[in-house]
Amino acid sequence: MSRIVEPLHVDDVVQVASRVDHAHRDGGPGCLECDSDGCGQHAWAADILDRHRADRVALRELVASW
Ligand SMILES: [Zn+2]
Repeated sequence: MSRIVEPLHVDDVVQVASRVDHAHRDGGPGCLECDSDGCGQHAWAADILDRHRADRVALRELVASW
């Protein structure tokens, strides 16, 4: 029995990153990874959104490589 792997879609990744970023802004709830040294989730989300704004083709290739 083979495992079916759904490919990640870049739009879904950007949407998740957008939600994570929003949760960390303006006194938002943050997430379970938040601590006094910052947050890996927020850093990831900010990186994805930066890439999305800068070069969507490169981001799509990055997501396809995961
Ligand atoms: Zn967080």
